[in-house]
Amino acid sequence: MKTIDFLTAADRFFYSMKTEKLLAFAALYLGVFLNFGLWRHVFMYPGMGTGVLIVFILCLALALSVLTFIFISLLAWPYMTRPVLIVLFLMSGYANYSMFWYGITIDVDMIRNVFETDAHEASELFTFSSIAWIALTGVLPAAGLCFVKLEYPSLSQMLKSKGLALLLGIFALGGIFYGLNPRFEKGDPHLRYMLSPFNYIFSTALYAREILGEEQDFIVLDADIAPVPVPPSGPNLVVFIVGETARAHNFSLNGYARQTNPLLEKEEHLFYFRNATACSTMTSRSVPCMFSAQTRKTFRKRDAHGTQNLLDILKQADYDVLWIGSSGGCKDTCDRVANQMVKSDADSEFCTGDICYDEALAENLETRLGNIRKNTFIVLHTTGSHGPTYHKKYPAAFHIFTPICTNNDLRLCDREEIVNAYDNSIVYTDYFIAKTIGMLKAATHLNTALFYTSDHGESLGEDGVYLHSMPYDMAPEYQKRVPMLLWMSERLLQQPPLNARCLADKAAHSGAASHDNAFHTLLGLSGINSKLYDANLDMLNDCRNP
Ligand SMILES: [Zn+2]
Repeated sequence: MKTIDFLTAADRFFYSMKTEKLLAFAALYLGVFLNFGLWRHVFMYPGMGTGVLIVFILCLALALSVLTFIFISLLAWPYMTRPVLIVLFLMSGYANYSMFWYGITIDVDMIRNVFETDAHEASELFTFSSIAWIALTGVLPAAGLCFVKLEYPSLSQMLKSKGLALLLGIFALGGIFYGLNPRFEKGDPHLRYMLSPFNYIFSTALYAREILGEEQDFIVLDADIAPVPVPPSGPNLVVFIVGETARAHNFSLNGYARQTNPLLEKEEHLFYFRNATACSTMTSRSVPCMFSAQTRKTFRKRDAHGTQNLLDILKQADYDVLWIGSSGGCKDTCDRVANQMVKSDADSEFCTGDICYDEALAENLETRLGNIRKNTFIVLHTTGSHGPTYHKKYPAAFHIFTPICTNNDLRLCDREEIVNAYDNSIVYTDYFIAKTIGMLKAATHLNTALFYTSDHGESLGEDGVYLHSMPYDMAPEYQKRVPMLLWMSERLLQQPPLNARCLADKAAHSGAASHDNAFHTLLGLSGINSKLYDANLDMLNDCRNP
């Protein structure tokens, strides 16, 4: 009798519900409630009257809920219903938070970004408010499912109801999409990447297909590249510093009122290309793009991995190529050349155990330069100004602009504090680039040059937008405009002769520099002859003296 009493008492904690009813509630919750980012986006459509907007949103909410209902109905079989719903609640809770607060859309690039971001960078994004938001909207409903006792009908009834749901859904959707079609086709190319849960489900499937798919044959774009002989004056050395999250607006070289480039401003033979633009607003795309022969418009990330890039070509031209990067990896760009990743626990005066300052990348550079006897190309891939923890990206000596924001949740800081911390990281970048130039100057047996650009910019709270990764044509200029500069040693300027005044003038006044120029400019600078070289995209071409 006692056992029965116990079971009766335990039963009180459970709520019996027919499976189809639970699925209908879940579909409404996922389709309507966990799509705040979508609703905010749609509310900002210009030129749509309130009435039309409300009808549009209602249609969209209905369409999403019906579609979600069909999707989960097809997956909801005994023993599977609860796990499927738990996964969807958790994923949608996280997607909803990211889309609402960071204005991102979820396509295959974003999923790749999630999988390729290192754990340390990702952990910085988990703030109290993000955890609270995901706990309330994802974990709590998922936990609630444990208290629902599901009533399944017989198999034949289940098949009948699923078939009926599918049929009704198709009819309903046909009508709804007919009404929504103009927006899908013409007005808003981003809408489909904002329809949760389908945006992350399909994008994850595409990403999985990409990484599990058959390995394509490696594409050699130019097999006829001849070795570049070491010049009589000594080997060429080009250092490419790939910056992280530095935006052009906060470089005083770019006209920023604060002096954030105190050292580079004084540097001779330094050419700063004003308001250059990045290939994308996220690292995983920008980094391979700037080393690719493609332009921003033609670049396809999934082809980049298996295609010859700038580093492959340099190697083919008998350059020694070395990539030194931080724990974030090189996004497949350096897979076929020598590479070293400096880990945060490295035994270095520039590593704290939590993070390595950028100087750790160049710790042994002086010795390395002394031993160079061949033409050499070195990439230093920095941590730069990666947010939200800008204050952790520079040593104490660069604590110049105060007070600073030390909270991972940037919305809890004053804008001035965020900008102060960010600007300090830019001053440190200025120092790091100048220090590296100093090492190149000291290597007098080499013909040296240094090229620097950042992978993308950053939003520092302008219009309530933070960080980066927004879709390119929706992203603010702050995320797209990047600093870009070239420093050349006196000897390299003479070989072949370059008109420094012409170059300074071009850099200051041409408004068209972008990551598209990196490949061709560096190819030209390294003295490589290739059919891939496009003189129009070489930023130095107009200033080469005959
Ligand atoms: Zn980045």
